[in-house]
Amino acid sequence: MKTKDLLSQLSRLERSLEDFSFEELTSNEASSLKKSFQAFKINLEEKVYQPTGALRADTNFDSEKECPANPNRSQVNNSVNPIMLVARVSHEIRTPLNGIIGFTDLLKEDKLTKKQLERVDAIQTASYSLMDIINELLDYSKLASGLEHFERVDFNFKAIVNDVMYLCNTLVTNKNIKLGVSIDPSIPKIIVGDPSKLSQVLLNLLGNAIKFVENGSIHLSIEQKSSKGTLHFLEFTIADTGIGISEAHLEHIFDSFKQAEHNTFAKYGGSGLGLSIVKQIIESLDGSIAVTSKLGEGTTFKFVIPFVKGNVNNMAVKKIDDSGLEKKKCAVKDLSVLVFEDNLLNQKLIEQQLKTWGCIPHITDNAHYGLTILENKKIDIVLMDLKMPGMSGFEVTDIIRKNKKDKVNQIPIVAISADFTKKDKEQCTENGINDFILKPYRTGELSSILAKNIKPMKTTL
Ligand code: ADP
Repeated sequence: MKTKDLLSQLSRLERSLEDFSFEELTSNEASSLKKSFQAFKINLEEKVYQPTGALRADTNFDSEKECPANPNRSQVNNSVNPIMLVARVSHEIRTPLNGIIGFTDLLKEDKLTKKQLERVDAIQTASYSLMDIINELLDYSKLASGLEHFERVDFNFKAIVNDVMYLCNTLVTNKNIKLGVSIDPSIPKIIVGDPSKLSQVLLNLLGNAIKFVENGSIHLSIEQKSSKGTLHFLEFTIADTGIGISEAHLEHIFDSFKQAEHNTFAKYGGSGLGLSIVKQIIESLDGSIAVTSKLGEGTTFKFVIPFVKGNVNNMAVKKIDDSGLEKKKCAVKDLSVLVFEDNLLNQKLIEQQLKTWGCIPHITDNAHYGLTILENKKIDIVLMDLKMPGMSGFEVTDIIRKNKKDKVNQIPIVAISADFTKKDKEQCTENGINDFILKPYRTGELSSILAKNIKPMKTTL
């Protein structure tokens, strides 16, 4: 049996558990259920973690089609090493944690007293900060164990940078920060690489700068340093006028779990993993990173990554007409949008975009929780990332389409993916997915596709 089949059987079992009436359970039955569950658990753990290499090196958390990070990287050891265990455990913790966050969201919509609301808020704040740590731990361990997969797709470079800046602008609103960007016009419009990794690196470095600047400026500049054949070496500089880093700490700043000062965590939070993740990503892309800083004056991170020039024709999806953008933004106002997306940065980006247009976003990577939302709330449209760990977007769509309630099974679904193969597109149609959009997309493309796919009474175009 394939892992995928086992996982879908397990989730079926989980669903039937919800309908199960525990009131009718005798103590004998309960004890035999417990025994059989424990036997199953031990059996499963032995199979997954046995030291003889039951885990394949491609126990990928992402798509099967993505290519390994760096071919020169040392081969992944088939046996379970501590890093892989951390990767697996942090991945597993995300699912229940998502459930906690999601259900506290639902709980907040009930009539709660002020005190209860404060407590639910406290659970949520703690859960979010735990989620941040888990996500960083997962990223770190995947990179360190060589399990991380890097995509190679043609993407619009400026559009990605603009998305990152858009998101950063939403983060500086409470501070007196001048945030700027300049892009060398000689950089090719379309380049080949992993757009989500590039935005992860930029968001991490810009996010740190925003954290450590109270009053001042942050500037991102991107220059084409040199080009060799089809390779373009792009140099990214993130300069801030923040608190700076002392010389003694600068040396170890890229080490894992290192923060510059002892009180950094108490004051600013964070796990001290961000910069070592950034360094690992950049080095996996055959690039390099350096930092200079002066305490009290500011910090400058510089990194160089080589990219190959891309071709607009390889960007699989047709350009969506985004004329009449303002009209389309009006059409999507007040839409309740359920988003299935596992990448935290994409989650944040899409949430901000939807909120800007006056939409009500509900974001999850958990099929189970998403279905609860669909059944209990008024949702107008679903955005579905096709490549999620655990259950793919196709499988979640299948469950939605088979649901008994019309309000659930008739919901328009738009698939989101970084690369659509011909087979993916066919499968979208077969699975009842109404439309699709390629990542990275411009904000205008997203509002267009939402406006195009909502039910007629909402479409005023
Ligand atoms: P964290 O999640 O704690 O921010 P990072 O690895 O991203 O972890 O950063 C490690 C430490 O480096 C931070 O805790 C902070 O002390 C220091 N640091 C990183 N970027 C900056 C910056 N732009 N200005 C000042 N200090 C910084």
